[in-house]
Amino acid sequence: MIKAVCFDLDDTLGHYASDFGEFVAFVRNELGLHQCDTNVFAKLVSDELRRDGPLTFELILRRVLDGLQQRAPADLAELASSAMASYAADYRPLPGAAELLSDLDSRGVKLALLTNGPDDMQRAALRALGFERHFRAILVSGDRDVAARKPAPRIFGLAVTALEVLPEEAVMVGDDLDTDIGGALDYGLAAIHVGPPTGPVPAAAGQAADLAAVRLLLSGLLGG
Ligand SMILES: [Mg+2]
Repeated sequence: MIKAVCFDLDDTLGHYASDFGEFVAFVRNELGLHQCDTNVFAKLVSDELRRDGPLTFELILRRVLDGLQQRAPADLAELASSAMASYAADYRPLPGAAELLSDLDSRGVKLALLTNGPDDMQRAALRALGFERHFRAILVSGDRDVAARKPAPRIFGLAVTALEVLPEEAVMVGDDLDTDIGGALDYGLAAIHVGPPTGPVPAAAGQAADLAAVRLLLSGLLGG
């Protein structure tokens, strides 16, 4: 019997509605790195975004500057924080997200958020959506107390422990076949893939085109 639902954030409940490449170019300019090719800078940022361990956007910029052998500006912390505010200002909920979370919450279903990314970035995006109040547990891979990226078993373990359920009593909803769906199934959770799949969806997982379809599948799993 399903008692809890774990959600991914990016491209599951919300998304960055502006051009991420333009955002990265803006950050490059703020750092005064006009001599650094935009694509080179974007690649360095994107590699750092996927790094394991505690992670913040400021740390990413510090590592990118190190890699380019550039001195970090004295106001790097403020620069990173204003970049996060600008990112969050363009972060939007996906259709049906608010309704789905309110509905599950009002039915007493325990909810957790499991998201890969820098702690400050993912929390700023979540705050912009106003969804924090629905979650009993918010697990960001870059949080120093989590420091594990999906599909690592650790982050799923932290989620079921925080929700006080067994793995088989929880279902993971996400758009990524490897990190969300593969990680959840390996840990013993049920899984629902949402959105257009980038490959074959495992037979053990549900498949939903959008959050309205997720809601229907969850209704079945939750018994009405
Ligand atoms: Mg995602």
